[in-house]
Order: sequence, then C-alpha cells, then structure tokens
Amino acid sequence: MPRTSQQAYDELIRRMKEIDLLGNCAGLLGWDQRTLMPAKASPYRAEQLTLLSGMVHQKFTDPEIGGMLGEVEGSSLVADAVSAPAVNVREWRRSYDRATRLPQALVEELTRTCSLAHDVWVEARRASDFPKFRPWLEKVVGLKRQEANAYGYTHHPYDALLEDYEPGETTANLTRVFADLREALVRLIGEVVGSGRHPDTSLLSRDYPIDRQETFGKMAAAAIGFDFEAGRLDVTVHPFCSNLGPGDTRLTTRYDARQFNMALFGILHEAGHGLYEQGMDPGHAGTPMAQAVSLGIHESQSRMWENFVGRGRAFWTHFFPLARHLFHESLAGVSPDDLHFAINDVRPSFIRVEADEATYNLHILLRFELEQALLTGDLAPGDVPGAWNERFRKYFDLTPPDDAQGCLQDTHWSGGGIGYFPTYSLGNLYAAQFFAQAGKDLGDLEAQFARGEFLPLRDWLAEKIHRQGMRYRAGQLVERITGKSLSHEPLMAHLRAKYGELYGI
Ligand code: ZN
Repeated sequence: MPRTSQQAYDELIRRMKEIDLLGNCAGLLGWDQRTLMPAKASPYRAEQLTLLSGMVHQKFTDPEIGGMLGEVEGSSLVADAVSAPAVNVREWRRSYDRATRLPQALVEELTRTCSLAHDVWVEARRASDFPKFRPWLEKVVGLKRQEANAYGYTHHPYDALLEDYEPGETTANLTRVFADLREALVRLIGEVVGSGRHPDTSLLSRDYPIDRQETFGKMAAAAIGFDFEAGRLDVTVHPFCSNLGPGDTRLTTRYDARQFNMALFGILHEAGHGLYEQGMDPGHAGTPMAQAVSLGIHESQSRMWENFVGRGRAFWTHFFPLARHLFHESLAGVSPDDLHFAINDVRPSFIRVEADEATYNLHILLRFELEQALLTGDLAPGDVPGAWNERFRKYFDLTPPDDAQGCLQDTHWSGGGIGYFPTYSLGNLYAAQFFAQAGKDLGDLEAQFARGEFLPLRDWLAEKIHRQGMRYRAGQLVERITGKSLSHEPLMAHLRAKYGELYGI
C-alpha cells in the first residue's frame, strides 16, 4: 500500500527531530569549546564536530527527504499555508534545495579557503597589512560569486547570499530602506556632534568588581524574564547565546573590572536572544515552527532589551538603587541622569563593535554597499581600502588612521559571511517597529519599567513573535504586528526622542 501524505510527514518529523538532536549535541560541544574546553583538546574537538556536521549534512540531503517532501507538497495537509505542517514543509524544502544545489567541490573549497583566510586575516589585522589579506579576499569573493550563481537569483547576486540569513528579503528593499536611514542618521549625528554637549563617561571606567557585575547582570536578566532554571550564564571571549534544545539556553559574557558597560549590556543583549529561544513553543521543538524567522528578527529581540529597554531612563529609575548599592564607591555622587547620559554617549568612531546605538548603523550601511559592489564586480577586492576610507569620510567625517581600524576590522569577510552585516541594522529597525507597537498595545511601558515590571513586554513578544516560530517571513511578521512594512521611521523617532532630550537638539 502506498504511503499516505500524513505518513510521509510523520516520517519527515521523525527524521528532522533526529537531525535536530544531532545538531544540538554539536551545539553543546561548540558551547564547551568556547567556554570551558582546555586548549589542548582543540584538535580532537574539531574531529568530533566534523563527524557530527557530516552526519547532519548526510541525513538532511538524503534523496529520500526530497522524495517525502514531494509526497507532502500539494497534499491537503499543507493546504493552509500558515498551518504547522505547511510551514515546516516550506522551510525544509527551502533548506533542502539550498543544501543540495551547491556542488560538493565548491562547499569543500569554501570551507578550506575560509579557514585559511581567517588565519591570514588575524595576522593581517594585527599588522594592519591589507596587501597580505588581499589575495585571500579575492579568493573568498570569487567563491561567493560562484555560490550565488549556484543558488540562483533573479535580480542581484546579493539576494542569493542574503537568503541564508534573511529568508525572502531582497537587496532592492534593503537598499531603499537603508538609503532613507542613512540620510536621516547623518543629519541626526551631525546635530549631536554640533551640540557640543558630552556626557562624563569617565564614571563608566571606575572600579566595578567582577563578582558584583555578575550579580547585577543576572538580576537584570532574571528581571526581564530569562529563566535561569532553563539556562545559564558563563564567561567567554566573544559573547554569544546558544540554544541547545528545550530547557537549555546558554548565555555568555565577558567582564572587565574597569568597565561598567560591557558585561551588563552584553548580558541584556544575549538574554534578549535567549528569551526568543525560551519563548518558542516546546510542542514544536526540532522543527521550523520552533525556530527563529531570521537573524534580523533574532537581533531585534537582543537589541530591544539592550538598547530600547536597558539604555532607557525608566530602566535606571528601577535599577539605579541596586547599582548604587553594589558599586557604592564608584557611583558615589553620580545621579541616575549622569549614568543615563554616559551610557548613551554618541560619538563617531572607527570600530563597529564599539559604536553607539546611532552611529552603529552607518558602519553597517557602508559594509552593505561595499559587499554588493564586490559581488557584482563593480569593486575590485584590491580597491577595498580606498573605497572604505572614502565612504567613511562621507558618513562619519573621519579618516581611518590605518586598515586595522578600517576595512580589516571585522572577521566576517574572511569567513565568507558576505550578506550577514545587514542583519544587525535590520535588528535595530525591527526592534524599533515592534517596540513602538508594544507601547500602543501595552500602555505606558516606561511607567511599567520604572516599577520593575518587564514581564508584560516579554509576554507580548512571546505571543506575537517567539511562539510563531517561522510561520511568517520577517516582512510579513512586521506587517502583521505593526500594520506597516519595514521602515526607517520608528528607529529614527526613537533616536530623535532620546538624543533630542540628552543633547538639546
Ligand atoms: Zn546579537
């Protein structure tokens, strides 16, 4: 008797949950590698991870998967496009086609090249030596072009790579929204700089004992709703959040005893990612219905808690007494207003990861433009430093003193991550749009935060976003929730309101 579409779907679920289990085993090994693993374990760990990722790839690209997808597609089981089976099948098909479309030789060449390019990039950045990195950038860009061609695209090769991070998003749409954003940001930042006002940021680099920072960070993460019985906070060099399955979401951070800012806002950021994972529907674990819509939507959750909540005045109305209690010597004589201004300092600077909430996006727009030109061939890899510095002058009115503080600062290109950068700014844009809508739905959020009530916002996000999994594309989700498509306006309104008050502009 032939298999019914329901039986084919059940078998797909069984196999995909098995693949998810394997993936989470690899995730745990990866988490350990970046937190606790002794250095000498590195070669053996690489073997373990290679074995697991090979098993995942083999199981996922098994032609039987393609066959079963074909059996379910077009059946009544997936007639309702936003039902769980329809969403799961749509996403499995998308990933299956992408995974099987790349020639094996290209995948291997990319893995090998990017691994070597990364090592050269580390050296080149240390010595600020672009010519050393140049041949490797040429190789990576050449391979990424081949990859875009293998995936296929209609309008722009960048679309094919963007699809890895932002399913359904287009270069044309981003170009339109980012152009509006750039113009408005350059104007706003010019006004901030022209105001001549500066906060006293020296108060942020006094003595802040690490054990107390950890206490504070954990209390803040718990207050916004992160469940420490289903997660942990540990220390690493480059902080990340890792979801290892239902009931196990790991946050990481790094501490500096002379910096108030870094660990706390890092923890709020990663806890925002963690809340997304903890908010997924456990009944759909291991399937796209319990996975994130896109990197941009994931980033909207982290940036909302870090910037819109954590850097807001009301958050500090509630948390300043605790901060003063924990750090009484360093915060003696500091008012909540002083602290609020210091953590919202706007200053054009060279390094993206150190940039403030406003100038950060200009760093991204610059990279987005150069990446497109590299892919189309309008910009030769050898001309990147010149193109970088020219744009930097235009957007920031500054000239990078060397390439280490210019085009060599990020790891992404050496790792083949072309198409990744826009997700950071998308995170800021979506965060603003969702946050504005939450304020309309939930009433006076600032008053709630000032009373230490953060759970209404957490629950709103869980209902509207987290529990929906991949049901909607990012663009659809933002339209469903806010009634408007992606726009620069809510982010600019947020920044204008905040800096208008702080800088008197
Ligand atoms: Zn993030």
